[in-house]
Amino acid sequence: MTEEFKLSEDFALKLDKEDPLSNFRAQFNIPTTNQGIEEIYFVGNSLGLLPNRARDAVSEEINKWGKHGVKGHGAERSDIKQPWVTYHQPLSKAMSKLVGALDDEVTIMNTLTVNLHLMLISYYIPTSKKNKIIIEEQIFPSDYFAIESQVRQRGYDPRDTIVTILPREDGLVHLDDIKQKIIDIGDELALVFLPGVQFYTGQVFPMKEIVEVAHQNGAYVGFNLAHAVGNIELSLNKWEVDFAVWCTYKYLNSGPGAIAACYINEIHLDRSDMDRFNGWWGTKLDTRFEMDKYFDKLSTADAWQISNPPILSMAPIKSSLEIIEEAGGIKELRKKSIKLSNYFKYLLSKELSKEIHLITPKSIEAHGCQLSLKVIIEKISGRDVFDSLINNGVSCDWRFPDVIRVAPVPLYNTFYEVYMFVQILKKIILE
Ligand SMILES: *Cc1c(COP(=O)(O)O)cnc(C)c1O
Repeated sequence: MTEEFKLSEDFALKLDKEDPLSNFRAQFNIPTTNQGIEEIYFVGNSLGLLPNRARDAVSEEINKWGKHGVKGHGAERSDIKQPWVTYHQPLSKAMSKLVGALDDEVTIMNTLTVNLHLMLISYYIPTSKKNKIIIEEQIFPSDYFAIESQVRQRGYDPRDTIVTILPREDGLVHLDDIKQKIIDIGDELALVFLPGVQFYTGQVFPMKEIVEVAHQNGAYVGFNLAHAVGNIELSLNKWEVDFAVWCTYKYLNSGPGAIAACYINEIHLDRSDMDRFNGWWGTKLDTRFEMDKYFDKLSTADAWQISNPPILSMAPIKSSLEIIEEAGGIKELRKKSIKLSNYFKYLLSKELSKEIHLITPKSIEAHGCQLSLKVIIEKISGRDVFDSLINNGVSCDWRFPDVIRVAPVPLYNTFYEVYMFVQILKKIILE
């Protein structure tokens, strides 16, 4: 990996010149410092940047509302472009491509934690014998709260029911440990719920292998893809994942609190024995407005939709998915992302190998855009380094107790920014 790079500033500029995605940066609003200088924005894993065209996409719906009022729903009007009643459909379709799903397996609705609750209603079916859920110790708190409250709501004790997998000394969760735990409690196991990419370490979980073992032990598997979607390549259908949930405001650049998405494997779409929290948006369009009490269920993931969705929140997703498609899809994004992070790791190993430790796994298959750094010298604390980075016009984030997360993303970050980041870090640490 290291031979292809050089240490010089010119080399960073050369990498940008050769980058086929370099034009996409101009399509985003890059935040600036108080001095009016563009920030090195490495927190696209937390909140992706605003695509210019999202303003137009939202305006278009505002204007539709202003001009047509209720007719904007427009099922029966041919002069309304993208009527609201079916607005989500092309977006779900584009989204399904991004996660390696069939068109019918993905729906866009609600927010991430809400969707996790809804999926648990369908996929957590505890019996007196099989009621345990496997999670990882460093699970995102919101996911834990959802799971813990669902377990209690079904009348089980979370202390007996929730089984956690600990990371090893290297801070990572090992596949062998996951497999062993699944096998050990297989008879009692109802569900495995893990991240696609871990939010703290940036570790990619081997989803395909996890599904295989869980299914052999009669358990469902769900993944939280908040940090995976738009970051790494996914094949949810091929891997036979049962369900997945994700938000769209991280690598999908769709705005703070934007509406989220959800994947339901095709084999579960037509089941009549599966519980679901229902609402009228889960019924077929041709009978929906007959206002009958019969739940005329859709045979797609849309059956899990409850309410008519917030169109203004959905409009930026359209812009974001368009841009990804124009860039050549997730394959092209991943290609650049691999080069960006290899370059990053190269610079760190040349310039700061004694001062910075990466807790993110070394192998490129085991991480996406995000690298999690630890400062390992006595002279200066990680927190002080982080504060100085912020004061030097870098946006990255601090995760308690001692990690600095940085995520150069392929759509709007540059090789030069990676170069500058390491220069700034070096200056902070060595001076
Ligand atoms: C970002 C993130 C969330 C956030 O949940 P919201 O419901 O969107 O507020 C939850 N879980 C994980 C793993 C995340 O990365």
